[in-house]
Amino acid sequence: MYKRVLLKFSGEQLSGKFDGGIDAELITWLAGEVKKVIDGGSQIVIMVGGGNFARGAQLAGHGIGRVTADNIGMLGTIMNAVALADVFNAAGVSSRALSIVSVDQIADQFTHRRAMSDLEKGHVVVAAGGTGRPYVTTDTAALSFALELECDVVLKATKVDGVYDKDPAKFPDAVKIDAMSFEQAVSDGAIKVMDKAALGLALEYQLPVVVFDAMQENNIARVAAGEPIGTKIG
Ligand code: UDP
Repeated sequence: MYKRVLLKFSGEQLSGKFDGGIDAELITWLAGEVKKVIDGGSQIVIMVGGGNFARGAQLAGHGIGRVTADNIGMLGTIMNAVALADVFNAAGVSSRALSIVSVDQIADQFTHRRAMSDLEKGHVVVAAGGTGRPYVTTDTAALSFALELECDVVLKATKVDGVYDKDPAKFPDAVKIDAMSFEQAVSDGAIKVMDKAALGLALEYQLPVVVFDAMQENNIARVAAGEPIGTKIG
């Protein structure tokens, strides 16, 4: 069992059955899944993406500068984080959205002390705002916050049940990889698990990453318990 885990959801996953925005019904279901992790004795940090609202690289152009576009992306992560924390609290899973970007009116400021204290009290910490810096994504934020908050593993939720040697949506003969080294994940151009910046941090600090399908019942609890599902990097 991992004592403290960081679970990363992309914005797209939080939009569930919708094309964008937030699927509160799905997030209520996720609250139940996360409760199983807490009942199993692990503490949990959730990093949310913002791609269901905006991705900086796509939004930039026609006068919108890259930094502004990335700031808009970060605002999307804040929207997801405050919504997710509300839905979790309503479902009885005590959660705190903490933003690394100052938005005092909307969410409490993330500080190391505050987050550690909330985790020790048994709250789910929902990290908002990514890293607070442009030109990176919430995958990099996931690794950075996992290191800062002394998590034992990063659990990256994806649409598929792990990493394949090629895109399983395009190639029916794609083969799932159960385990791979940090070096392999960083250097293999065909395998796009996470940003290279994120994987570089994982490699440098030897922090394992598990890529798995969180939308299957009990999978989050199983992976937090250390069961070999998905693909383990490291
Ligand atoms: N972003 C950023 N810095 C960060 C995290 C996110 O600038 O530390 C911006 C970036 O534009 C990114 C967008 O916010 O495209 C949404 O985050 P991400 O793409 O990671 O969301 P996901 O694909 O996981 O939903």
